[in-house]
Formats: sequence, structure tokens, C-alpha cells
Amino acid sequence: MRITHIRAVPVSYRVPEGQNVTLGIGRAVKRDAVLVKVETDEGVVGWGEAHHGRCPGAIARLIDTTIAELVTGMDAFDTVGVWSRVYRMQLASHGMGAAAALALSGVDLALWDIRGKACGWPLYRLLGGASRPVKAYAGGIALGWQDPASLADEARRYVEQGYRALKLRVGDTPARDVARVRAVRQAVGDDIDILVDGNTGCSPDDVRRVMPAYGELGVGWFEEPFTPHDHRAYADAARQGSVPLAAGENHYTRFEFTRLLEDGTVAFVQPDLSKTGGVTETMRIAALASARKITVNPHTSATGINMAASIHLLASVDNPGYFEGDVARHNPFRDEVGGVPYALDAEGCVRPLDGPGLGIEVDERFLAAHPLIEGPCYV
Ligand SMILES: [Mg+2]
Repeated sequence: MRITHIRAVPVSYRVPEGQNVTLGIGRAVKRDAVLVKVETDEGVVGWGEAHHGRCPGAIARLIDTTIAELVTGMDAFDTVGVWSRVYRMQLASHGMGAAAALALSGVDLALWDIRGKACGWPLYRLLGGASRPVKAYAGGIALGWQDPASLADEARRYVEQGYRALKLRVGDTPARDVARVRAVRQAVGDDIDILVDGNTGCSPDDVRRVMPAYGELGVGWFEEPFTPHDHRAYADAARQGSVPLAAGENHYTRFEFTRLLEDGTVAFVQPDLSKTGGVTETMRIAALASARKITVNPHTSATGINMAASIHLLASVDNPGYFEGDVARHNPFRDEVGGVPYALDAEGCVRPLDGPGLGIEVDERFLAAHPLIEGPCYV
């Protein structure tokens, strides 16, 4: 089965007024995604999602031009061969780096979708997994920098929905961060796992100040206090505090995860299937982490495609951590791209979809109705 055509579709929607969550990288004003359609000479069609990289038009252009030219005509089942070709020709050379990783991720997800559809199997079965429960936390663009009382109300709502874990956005000032975590701990009690995410916006001094309080409040992980390249700050913070660090949504390919794991600074890795190199590469990263008894907690990108793929993968590795549920009230990328990607059960868990491939039937009318909006999604 040969790849005959690759097309990227950048899509956007504006976040409704009054629902703009603020976090360490700004205020969310719109959401973006890049969907990737791969067609074959046997008529099997696959869909993937590439992360938008804050410039979805550029990622789509890269896929439609250079990546499509590199990959068209290759064997659609040869995910390793496609990965290696794009890696060698575009990712590791000529400076496109992360953009090429995003583009390759979208193509790789579509090829796994094709493989599943060709044999009628859901992705988790192809990967050696089973339809098992995967624990989820309330995350996505939610629980932002708001006043502690409203944050506590929001957190309570997710616990009522069934979530047993949730993630707060920190990286504001140490005093405000601690006040928010404390308010949520008081609201949800001691049995809920509270995670925090600095979105790369903390200074080493901020981290020194908040760590004792986070330890006392039982924070489960402190995600991305620093930029991914700041290896020394991660090492210093890991020595200082009782709260384990997490990172990975801005780490690309198994090579960057190798450094992260060798440094021994994080206790949780968070590869994003739509950023780090697709299913193919995230399975390799999961194996690297498994050898160190570290769990994989994929960062969730934007649409039901990425969500479905992440749950399949978590149901297929021996070191699954959390699935990041997207709890935004209004999220058509989650709900309308192609069916509901997951449902939360009473224990706060989700299961992989049972349809062939990723199990998402993309509605192209939805894509046509949500054309690209240029500009940054956080301001
Ligand atoms: Mg994060």
C-alpha cells in the first residue's frame, strides 16, 4: 500500500469571551491545530494531528510541501522508514528542528490510523495493549491564574465529574501560586492528586520559595518550572525540593528524552504524540522511561485525534501514567472533529476507543467550518 497524497488542514476557533484562561505562557484567545490527511493507492485514508507550534499555517505549509514530497510514494505501513527519512532529511539537518518534529508527528499518527483501518484493529491492539482503564487528570487549558475562591470552585466541579487528579497553572508570583494551591487543597481534600504546571515561567528563586509549601500541600508533580534547555536549573531544583519534577511536552524525539532521563532530574515524562514524533517515537520514549521505572504522562495537544492516540498508547505500555483530560467547557476540537474521544468513568479513568485505527472518523465539514485564524493563540 503506497502513500499517494498528503494534505495538512490548519484549523482554529476563538475562545469564547469570558472563558479565556491565563497561564504562564499568556492568555488563551484561540485554539489551533493542524490535521493531516494521508491517502493511499488502496483507498485507505488516515488522519493525524500535528501540534500547531503557535503558527499553524507554517506547519501546514511544511507538511504540504517538503514533507509530502519526501514521503509520497513510500510504503504506508513502513512507519519506521518514513520516520527515518524525514528525520534524516528534514528534522536533523537544515535547521527546521521542532517544526519538522511537529509535522512528522502528524504524518506518523495518520500512518498508524491507516495501519489500523487496513487490518480492522484499534491502535491499542496493534501496539500490544488491551482495552484497560487509564487514569486521567483534569487538565488542558483550565484551572488558570484566577482568584483562589473561583479556582477552588472550578476544581470541585471536576472532582464531582469523577476526576481524581487535577492540574493547576502556577508560575505567577510565589505568594499567589501557593495561595491557589492551598485553596484547592482545602476544597478537594487530601485524596485528590494536585499537580502544578509552571509553563516554563519560573525562576530558580521562585522555585526555592514555593517548594516547601508544595511539599506540605502534597503536590504530585511540578511540571516545567523552567525552559527545556535549562538543564542546570532542573538539576538544582531536583536537589532542593520534595516535590518531583515533570517535563517533556517541549522535548522532541527520543534523543532529547535521553538527556532528560540521563540527567535524572524528572520523575515523570510527558511526551506529546503530536510534537515529539508521533506514535512511533513515543513508544521508543516510553521504553527508555520504562527502563528507569518512570511513567509516561502524555501532554495532550488539541483535538480528539491526539487524545484518542494518547489513550491508545497509555493502554499499550507497561509504564502508563496519567491521560491529560481537556476539561475546557467549550472545545469543539475535542467534541466535534470526529466523535467523542473518551468518556470518564466513576473511578476517574478512560479507555481507548474500539474502532479501527485511532477510532476517530474525521468530519471534513467541521474542518471547512473552522478555517485558520492567523496570529498567536496566547497573548
Ligand atoms: Mg504543561
